[in-house]
Amino acid sequence: MMQVKENNIDAGRYTTNSKSIEFGPWHISYDVSCILPSVCSTKVVCERDDDQFCQFCIYCKELEIPHFPDMVFPKNILTLNYGTSAKISFEPLHALKRVANTVRAIEVSCSEAWLEARPDAARKKKTFDWTFSTDYKGTLSENIVVEPTEETINFDVLKQKDQILFYHDLTLFEDELHDHGISKLSVKIRVMPSYWYLLLRYFLRVDDVLVRSNETRMFHMLNTDYVLREYTAKESQAKDLHMPTSQMKEADDVIPFLAVKEKVTEKIVFKEPNL
Ligand SMILES: [Zn+2]
Repeated sequence: MMQVKENNIDAGRYTTNSKSIEFGPWHISYDVSCILPSVCSTKVVCERDDDQFCQFCIYCKELEIPHFPDMVFPKNILTLNYGTSAKISFEPLHALKRVANTVRAIEVSCSEAWLEARPDAARKKKTFDWTFSTDYKGTLSENIVVEPTEETINFDVLKQKDQILFYHDLTLFEDELHDHGISKLSVKIRVMPSYWYLLLRYFLRVDDVLVRSNETRMFHMLNTDYVLREYTAKESQAKDLHMPTSQMKEADDVIPFLAVKEKVTEKIVFKEPNL
């Protein structure tokens, strides 16, 4: 049973657009939302401190980094429910929790300019990874086990021309590094008649310094009871790439040339819930 549903929910401050599809035991859905405000939007409510907070205050409470990316889409969330017992989701808040609040030496070259442009971040005198680099691989619920595997994603299957039942490319956050490049996390999903496939991509380009990508691919073949998850971290110094910055604008143009730092494929297996 495959059915695409569309909902327009006007939730007050956030106009959320959601779409979903039923695919075998899966209920796959995404929400599209507004950008995270840069200040508290409901001071009276948030100051009561009784567990009701606006999105901005939730981010301030949950994250240790003193500054958030220019554009965070707090409710841009992709969710894959497996029956009623397990769930895989992709959420900007969880991804930002994995940003280090220490800065690495390699990136210091334009950190001064960045901090000058953001007096509030500088004032907090807290160094952190202002590139918002994250090794987030998605959020797994209970009743899921991650196992090592020798199996790899069959990319030939992905190349077959088939009808696309469901597709979306969702931006979780993006920052232009004060015109020094780009830092972006996005997730794309496509559901085909016999499988679903997704790519979560963190892409960083610090102009004339370095290019980095952390990509998580997930693949599920219909009528199997597991998902393959392949994580690939890549990074190269700009000087080692021998290509002009103008050719590094699009992630797809430069990622194939980056040096692989880490690559691991795992199997996501669903357990029967404990009743
Ligand atoms: Zn607030």
